[in-house]
Amino acid sequence: MDTENKEQEIEKETEGTDYEDVCFVCHRPQSKAGKMIHLTKDICICPECMQRTMDVMSKSGMDYSKMDFSRMPNISMINLSDLQNMIPRRQKVKKKSPQTDKKPEKAFDIRSVPAPHKIKESLDEYVIGQEKAKKVISVAVYNHYKRVAAGTDADNIEIEKSNMLMIGPTGSGKTYLVKMLAKLLDVPLAIADATSLTEAGYIGDDIESVLSKLLAAADNDVEKAERGIVFIDEIDKIAKKRNTNQRDVSGESVQQGMLKLLEGAEVEVPVGANSKNAMVPLETINTKNILFICGGAFPELENIIKERLNKQSSIGFFADLKDKYDNDKNLLRQVTVEDIRNFGMIPEFIGRLPIIYTLDALDEDMMVRVLKEPKNAILKQYQKLLALDEVKLEFTEEALRAIAKKAMEKDTGARALRAIIEDFMLDIMYEIPKDENIGQVTITEDYIEHRGGPMITMRGIPMLSMQG
Ligand code: ADP
Repeated sequence: MDTENKEQEIEKETEGTDYEDVCFVCHRPQSKAGKMIHLTKDICICPECMQRTMDVMSKSGMDYSKMDFSRMPNISMINLSDLQNMIPRRQKVKKKSPQTDKKPEKAFDIRSVPAPHKIKESLDEYVIGQEKAKKVISVAVYNHYKRVAAGTDADNIEIEKSNMLMIGPTGSGKTYLVKMLAKLLDVPLAIADATSLTEAGYIGDDIESVLSKLLAAADNDVEKAERGIVFIDEIDKIAKKRNTNQRDVSGESVQQGMLKLLEGAEVEVPVGANSKNAMVPLETINTKNILFICGGAFPELENIIKERLNKQSSIGFFADLKDKYDNDKNLLRQVTVEDIRNFGMIPEFIGRLPIIYTLDALDEDMMVRVLKEPKNAILKQYQKLLALDEVKLEFTEEALRAIAKKAMEKDTGARALRAIIEDFMLDIMYEIPKDENIGQVTITEDYIEHRGGPMITMRGIPMLSMQG
């Protein structure tokens, strides 16, 4: 009677939700394996596995009812509450809706995807510069989701997948661009680092683990994950080593391992964990409609491009000067598939990333704009924080330029800006709340260059200078 009540209680809890129980032994969800038998509140087993367990026990010929386990050395009954601590917290998976097997193309509504110019406009609000990249990405994403919506049944014309390869120096906004894109489109996003990926069986994350991340980002909703975005950073680190005769197993085989994912395959993915093991349920994810964006800084690629261009120009009548391209800041824009192949990416891999574009290194002017213009600009964040204390925060134009200059020296792109600002804002954030009479703080170039303090204006009193 007691167990019956428990069953009913559990049933009530999951009823009406989109999540269903998964068998603890075979990992199949309730919709496939039949109604679950609950051993505890969180652990359940399907009728088939239960039956099999019973069969094994009875075949062994022992009469368990007459045995006294407590008297046997080294044998203790499994304590289910201990087991409960071992299983991942999310032992439930989201139910697939019944029609999706037949018409997956209906799952996404093309009308909800903004037109390319709208996507670009929204990206403009956050990402400074990188005009070409924003344009290419907007069109590619629009086409990708159009393809998802259209399906392939109607006329057998399959639109090619718009996977992308993004090349740009550190801190030029690669990750940021993808994050903003996913936010804008309201699709789940998984970010992985290519250096941590290994072939199955090696130490590190399996290639499929990126899909586990995506599933987690989609709240274990397989349909949602199947139209998400996967960003794989540092893709240049899995290039084949150049100029060696040895076979480079690590990089090349990871590239090989990724081919199927990029193209579209059914992959079994552990739910709520990074690796497949006996304790986690599995779900099948089809990667056909997942947009893969690979990004990397590709150092040395410029030299490869330069080499090619120099070779080309020395063939003509007017042999150019050899160092003609040495100071060309935007040399990366001239990249070709051949250059990337020479860098060490295998042709099959590049072939599955048909859209290739580059991001420019940020210059000083762009750095200044990054500080103040984006919707979530770091200056705006500090201004908002201080505004909560009713203090106005201002930066002089010279101060911004001095910060940008310092950041340029670090060679880590816009990433350096935050570190620099955090460093000198610390004193301000510490000192200002001490005095309620402070009405405004102006950050000056002198303060950035450690030649003086920021300008402080007291409420109703003219400017003072705080010793920094
Ligand atoms: P990476 O190209 O190495 O992936 P990120 O995208 O991580 O660089 O950039 C680091 C940070 O710098 C971002 O979080 C963002 O705040 C800022 N940033 C970089 N590029 C831009 C840009 N073009 N416009 C606005 N902010 C940028």
